[in-house]
Amino acid sequence: MSKINIAIDGPAGAGKSTIAKLLAKELSYTYIDTGAMYRALTYLLIKKDLPLTDENLVLETLRNDYDFSFEGEKIILNGEDITNLIRSNEINANVSTIVAYKKMRELMVEKQRELSNKKGVVMDGRDIGSVVLKDAELKIFLVASLEERARRRFLENKEKGIETTYEEVEENLKKRDYIDTYVSKALVKTKDAIEVDTTNMSIKEVVARIKDLATTRNR
Ligand code: C5P
Repeated sequence: MSKINIAIDGPAGAGKSTIAKLLAKELSYTYIDTGAMYRALTYLLIKKDLPLTDENLVLETLRNDYDFSFEGEKIILNGEDITNLIRSNEINANVSTIVAYKKMRELMVEKQRELSNKKGVVMDGRDIGSVVLKDAELKIFLVASLEERARRRFLENKEKGIETTYEEVEENLKKRDYIDTYVSKALVKTKDAIEVDTTNMSIKEVVARIKDLATTRNR
């Protein structure tokens, strides 16, 4: 069967990365987590003690000092394994500061397209179906209620040993939803995207549903 590209967009905590990872595994596709790329840039700026509010400096840092790759399950930046480091409260709280910078986003999109120049990619983010992979054969828009998303993130943090209260997680999600929708305006549901509400679905059910849709698209 020929391979297709699958775009998965939606708000933070809707289950995108969990679903995309499992789906890629089942289909023997490559998983690309675009949020990790913005998180990695945020991490680098903080590490270098650079102001996230300086749009030009953020672009220059991406241009000159950002050597990013996915190596299996690991996320590598300039030779350092940052897989867990980019999930911290500090990165969660700061990533939104940079995501609306237009030129930086254009360069990120270029990098994301380079990573997916062959078919057989499951890519998740906010603007994948609308910008990065406009031609993706299957576009999924994953949603879930704010309460359910906050509950999931809170439990995920607890498992990873990241200390947060439920209220802090909910506040952070609300802030990021606002920025994704009204400031960076990256979060767009295209007309050809299929909305899947995961609020009352198990991970297994969501993966099966999307896999089903993918099978009918690559015939
Ligand atoms: O998906 P994740 O929470 O890891 O993404 C981190 C941040 O990067 C999000 O809050 C969102 O604002 C931004 N993002 C984006 N465009 C993407 C992926 C993520 O603006 N394609």
